[in-house]
Amino acid sequence: MAETHTQSAASRLEAVHEGIAHACKVAGREVGEVTLVAVSKMHDSVSIKRLIEAGQRVFGENRVQEAQAKWPALRESYPDIELHLVGQLQSNKAEDAVALFDCIHSLDRPSLVAALGKAMARAGRQVPCFVQVDVGEEEQKGGCPIGEVPALIASAREAGIPVVGLMCVPPLGIEPAPFFAFLDKLARDNGLGKLSMGMSGDYETAIMLGATHVRVGTALFGERE
Ligand SMILES: *Cc1c(COP(=O)(O)O)cnc(C)c1O
Repeated sequence: MAETHTQSAASRLEAVHEGIAHACKVAGREVGEVTLVAVSKMHDSVSIKRLIEAGQRVFGENRVQEAQAKWPALRESYPDIELHLVGQLQSNKAEDAVALFDCIHSLDRPSLVAALGKAMARAGRQVPCFVQVDVGEEEQKGGCPIGEVPALIASAREAGIPVVGLMCVPPLGIEPAPFFAFLDKLARDNGLGKLSMGMSGDYETAIMLGATHVRVGTALFGERE
């Protein structure tokens, strides 16, 4: 039984690798330009281990507390794991996030710039951040309003936060390509080279439009409960 699960984790991972390779080929890009972030939220350590054993090393979680419960033990067994925060971050969790994560995809407001800047300075640890952009004007998803992105990037840099790119979660149920193309242009206009965009249903489209980080959960782990 365990063997079967391992194989299915391996075959899911292989299928996503094939999707990434196909999209890169179509777009004339190198597969090495795209980082696959395996989003393991709501999946337990057993399922995560299967994917690690299949070769995956970069993982994403959307909640600090859940990540704190699962990852310290996993990292003892697999020290070369890279852990990304892909979900909204409360300012009062900034210190915990800086201690635990290697990359934060959800920097989206001035109060969080202040909290993360302070936390990074205190920890002596500069965690690369993506500025999350509210491309669909959906406040509940978080994300910086489009017009405020340049100012947020500037203030983050002033606070000593390494801003590496832009991230978005487009509205559900609409063709995402125009949002991805828009995020790519906004990143270029702001001199940023990295783009965190694309999930299980649309990561190939996102890669064709410039994604450097795709955040894939369901296609790797199956449906969440
Ligand atoms: C859950 C989540 C994902 C992964 O979504 P899937 O559709 O399961 O691939 C990606 N990004 C964020 C921000 C998420 O919360």
